[in-house]
Order: sequence, then C-alpha cells, then structure tokens
Amino acid sequence: MTVSVSAPAASAAETVLRRPSLVGRTRSGLAEALAEIGVPEKERRMRVGQLWNWIYHYGVREFDAMTTIGKGLRGELAEHFTLDLPSVTAEQVSTDGTRKWLMRMPSTGPHDRGAEIECVYIPEVDRGTLCVSSQVGCTLTCTFCHTGTQRLVRNLKTEEIVAQLMVARDRLGDFPNRKPPEGAFVPNDGGRFVSNIVFMGMGEPLYNFDGVRDAIGVITDDQGLSLGRRRITVSTSGVVPQIGPLGEEMGTMLAISLHAVRDDLRNELVPLNKKYPIKDLLEACRNYPGLSNAKRITFEYVMLKGVNDSDAEARELVRLLKGIPAKINLIPFNPWPGTKYECSDWDRIERFSEIVFRAGYASPVRTPRGRDILAACGQLKSETEKLSARARLMLEQEEAQAAPAVAAE
Ligand code: SAH
Ligand code: SF4
Repeated sequence: MTVSVSAPAASAAETVLRRPSLVGRTRSGLAEALAEIGVPEKERRMRVGQLWNWIYHYGVREFDAMTTIGKGLRGELAEHFTLDLPSVTAEQVSTDGTRKWLMRMPSTGPHDRGAEIECVYIPEVDRGTLCVSSQVGCTLTCTFCHTGTQRLVRNLKTEEIVAQLMVARDRLGDFPNRKPPEGAFVPNDGGRFVSNIVFMGMGEPLYNFDGVRDAIGVITDDQGLSLGRRRITVSTSGVVPQIGPLGEEMGTMLAISLHAVRDDLRNELVPLNKKYPIKDLLEACRNYPGLSNAKRITFEYVMLKGVNDSDAEARELVRLLKGIPAKINLIPFNPWPGTKYECSDWDRIERFSEIVFRAGYASPVRTPRGRDILAACGQLKSETEKLSARARLMLEQEEAQAAPAVAAE
C-alpha cells in the first residue's frame, strides 16, 4: 500500500518571512536564540533548560504550551521563532510496514525552496529503526548506489538531522501528552517506536562531521530525546582520518561499507578507496576506540551478482577481518532504474553467508525492506536534483572549504 500526502509548497512571501525554528537546535543554539531577543546572560542557562524540556521531552509545537515560561517571554519567542518541524511532503507505506517520509526543510533564503530529504522508518518485532540522512545527495559516487548519482546539494545542518527524529516521533505519536497529527501512524503493539538510529540514508556522515556530532549530542541528551549512543550506528564508506575522531567524539557504533576484498574492485565500487585503501581502512577499524566483543564493528557487504560474491571472496573477507571484533552484514543489492548491477542469487548469498558464519562471524543477511517504495538501502534519491544557481554556489564553496581539511590529514 502506498499513501501519499501532499503539503502545498510555501509561497515566495512566506518563504522570505519565515521565522527560524528552534526545533533541532543544540543547547548553545538555543542560548544564541535567547541572546538575540535580549534575554540577560545570567538567565539564559535556566531558560535553555526549560525550552529543552518542552521541545525534546514533550515535543510541544506552540510556545504557549510552555507553561513554566512567563507569558511575556513566550510572546517574545513566538514573535521571532517557531517550533515548526520540516513539512512532510509525502509519506509512503510499504507492504512490510516500512515508512518513507519525504521532508522539505525550511528554506534558508529567498532563492532556496528548502532541501528535500528522505528518511525511512523500519518497524521490527523488537525495535524500530530510523534511517536518517546526513547530506542532501552525496559527493561520493559508489557505482551501485542510487544516492551517489545525485549531485550533493549540501550538508544537512544539525537541526535538520535532529528534525528527522522529531518528525518520526511526531508521526508515530511518540511524545507524552501530545496528540499525534492527523493521519499519523501510531504503533499499537508496544515498543515499535524509534529505538535505534542508523546514519544510512543519504550522504556520507563523516563528510558532515560537525553536523552529525552535534545532532548526536542532542539526540542522546538524557534530559530530552535520550537515545543511547550504543543504539546509534554511523555508517561510512571509509573516510579513514575521521574514523578515530568519530569514536572519540561521538562514541557510537561504527559500520563500514566494505563491499570488496581487493583494492582493484573496491576502487571501482567505492571510488573513495583510491584515497583510503583497504589496508588503511582496516587499520583505522582496529584502532576504533572502545572496541570489544560487545561493541563490534559492522561490515556491510552488498551482494552483487558475479562481481563480489564468490566463495574465494567470502574466505578472503574472513581473513581480512581477523582480530577485529566484527559483524558482517550481507546486503542483497537493491536495484534502481538504470543500474548495471544485479543482486546475487539467493543460494549464492546463502553459501557466502555460510562461509562467513563457519569462520565464527554472525553474518545476517539484511532483509530488504521497503523495496516497493524505493526506501531500501541505496535507493534514496530526492527530487531536489535541479540546483538553483545559489545552491550550486553554496555547494562549490562548501566543497572548496571541505577539500583542504580532508587532504590535510
Ligand atoms: N554513505 C554511507 C552511509 C549511507 S549508505 C555509506 O556509504 O556507508 C548506507 C548503506 O547502503 C551502505 O553500506 C551502502 O553501501 C549501502 N548501499 C548503497 N546502495 C545500495 C544498494 N543499491 N543496494 C544495497 N545497499 C546499498
Ligand atoms: Fe554516498 Fe554511501 Fe551511496 Fe557511496 S554508498 S554514494 S558514500 S551514500
């Protein structure tokens, strides 16, 4: 079943006049907002605590609901800011219960319609996993990934990353005392709210390091959204210099998109490998802070028919990972229009999995979810393809700024 809801696009005037939303901000972001409207410095900490509680614990959408804050300040806040979430422009429901939301972020200026991103919710018996995006599109061009065919528009801001979880919780009716919006899907079998987050949507999270780090800070804060760091997994295609800092500054679980056991093949599938070859990548993994049998690295391996799925490659995979506390996640390739790859046959996947399993690794095959709504891994690609001149300029500036930082390491 596919249900779509459409929200009207904001008019030009609305776009220009829109007040910024406070939802998704860090504590210092909220303190800045308070400073902007003249709240004295000595009061700010206490006010930030109040706002935090209302926004992230209660999920309120109106300043007037913030009854611990005086009417005067509530009015001031409402005059300058909103508590809006990104608008959900389409909601699709897969036959397997997977939900995909297309969200439009508030515009950042008169020539920006607001970035459009996709976010996927996957309910399972014992958990609810939210797959979030860290960028609009991706600059890396992994040949089997649909997102990689979309040109990067930009990094998502911290608040835009946090907002994906806020929208999901809102649509799932998961805030205390708050009535879910019309049409929201509320799980009624207990425990299928968002319990886990994976950064496996659009984008390379380690190319948006600060945005992702700060968003994780907000999401894990125990006064608010309160998700444990062990329930968050950051997946990277292998930005080696940022793997150590990821462990130190974010302390989340790590997933590596490996997909090949030889550099020549990986250079082709994941072109970033030319910069950071397999040996360097695995060295960074061995040194990932806090590794133990209870905190293993997940190695993702997409099953491509006749490309990377032989018995010899399964054995080489096991050999390469020796000594690293690891799980291997075999992902059946999800086809998308125009791709040259095919998914390996089922018995091939089983055989591959068996070799890995016999060597002592858990090797679950990831059940493809939401294939009918193009919500599965690597199928995400938003409609924001045609860049405005300004967005293109921003992108070029961002890329120019990002390049030396990566090259310097
Ligand atoms: N950029 C990050 C995170 C997003 S991609 C990364 O590459 O790790 C999330 C996962 O989906 C990655 O393991 C990616 O390799 C995989 N993936 C991409 N396209 C896919 C496809 N068409 N079928 C199956 N998995 C895919
Ligand atoms: Fe980007 Fe990940 Fe897709 Fe590669 S697999 S293009 S890094 S989103």
